[in-house]
Amino acid sequence: MPESLCPACRHVKKIVSGTGSQFWLCQLTLTDRRYPKYPPQPIVQCQGFAAAEPPPGKPQPQDPRA
Ligand code: SF4
Repeated sequence: MPESLCPACRHVKKIVSGTGSQFWLCQLTLTDRRYPKYPPQPIVQCQGFAAAEPPPGKPQPQDPRA
């Protein structure tokens, strides 16, 4: 499975359910209905992607809009 952009995006919020399942909540959905609340994974291209600050030593993912 290709790597998803969502985990590296500043618009995402990681949700962990009571059973330990993980979901990526796209917060752009609050202002732009083109973005689903829980985008189907993996997201390999996204107009709304904006890189979050990477943890030290982790490479920045490529911006697909560049
Ligand atoms: S803007 Fe795109 S890349 Fe960012 S969390 Fe939403 S769907 Fe994922």
